Amino acid sequence: MGSIIVITGTPGVGKTTLARALAERLGIRYINVAELARANGLLLNYDEARGAYVVDIRGVRKVLRDIASREEVVVDTHIVEVAPPEFVRLAIVLRLDPRLLAERLRGRGYPLSKVRENVESEVLDLCLQDAVAHLGFDKVFELDATGKPPHVVLEEALKIIERGEGAKPGSVSWAAKLGEELAELLLSLGG
Ligand code: ADP
Repeated sequence: MGSIIVITGTPGVGKTTLARALAERLGIRYINVAELARANGLLLNYDEARGAYVVDIRGVRKVLRDIASREEVVVDTHIVEVAPPEFVRLAIVLRLDPRLLAERLRGRGYPLSKVRENVESEVLDLCLQDAVAHLGFDKVFELDATGKPPHVVLEEALKIIERGEGAKPGSVSWAAKLGEELAELLLSLGG
């Protein structure tokens, strides 16, 4: 029986970069949930307001269950609910300073409303909360990628996977770290 390593977090934090490198290093398959959904006809309607496709979560979970029953995989997704919990070995929630995240998403050409939505999600720990609710505290780790080049993020992720050494949920608080700068950041995004 296989198992799943989940790499999750707000869009733009660096999931794809880490998940691809991890899969290569561990010699296992990389799965991007958006691509998997598209390939299996599991993208539902286009949500105009959010500028993204809605994914058939139960459908993707079923496909992942089939795959994970056969092989080990790294799953790259910002929607942790697509992962069948019984197959998940652990989840790493990548975190990024919201100021850096805003810069990155603006650089990607996202509309300001979408930048703000994602920055707010990061500040409110939404992906982290979802991961803990869906998988349980024990399987979830946080990895703060702020100021770390990809190879350092990869090494920290390997420590979590191979030795269970890493930060647990609750270790990152952007509100506490940024203080008053947080309000300024949100204002600059039209919040
Ligand atoms: P996600 O999959 O979470 O949306 P990506 O892996 O696509 O994030 O990364 C978003 C952008 O940030 C890309 O341009 C990527 O090259 C860059 N990036 C990813 N990880 C790092 C890092 N550790 N340091 C600097 N830039 C990074």
